[in-house]
Amino acid sequence: MNRLLPPDITCTRQHSGAVAIYTFRHRELGELGRMVLTDYPGEQTQVSCEVVGESDDPMTLTRLALFQPLTENILQAMATQPVDIRTTDASPLIPSLACERVESKMLPCEVCGCPVALLIFAAGAQSPADFADYARKMFHLYRDMNVPAWIIGDSLGVPGFSTPSCVMKVWPARESIRQVTPADFNDDLDRLLSGHCRL
Ligand SMILES: [Zn+2]
Repeated sequence: MNRLLPPDITCTRQHSGAVAIYTFRHRELGELGRMVLTDYPGEQTQVSCEVVGESDDPMTLTRLALFQPLTENILQAMATQPVDIRTTDASPLIPSLACERVESKMLPCEVCGCPVALLIFAAGAQSPADFADYARKMFHLYRDMNVPAWIIGDSLGVPGFSTPSCVMKVWPARESIRQVTPADFNDDLDRLLSGHCRL
């Protein structure tokens, strides 16, 4: 299957009984989607393809634009010849966040108490793909809260006010990852908080 994959997409395979799950990851967008193959004895293999992410997350369309032609190519190849589905990339998946608690913190306005900002702490996130995974999995939270939201990675050194972390703003618009020190970031948050009820 690997020869069907563009260089920036990797695939891992999990297998249990008659079911094989192929998970596709993009170098920068993180997990794209899954192909689930179910073998029914004496019958054809049933294949289902699912893109990951919430339907109203704009990034889901971006993922779909890569995932759909990819799965179509693979299905087409499978229809004409047996595809070697045993060769898979051994790159490890980051642990599923489904069963992992993601720490987040809502900052309320000191005057009116309304939410002003949301911080999501991305433990262990290092690559752009890791940040993209957090952004996808926490989408429902920042969409529902509808306040400026950031995903904050681990400290890039000995933790302290002058040691930067990678930070990605994800709401109201998604921005690129930048390196910010807690000192500078807290200044920005303080301005946001103190400006809330002054308008
Ligand atoms: Zn306020």
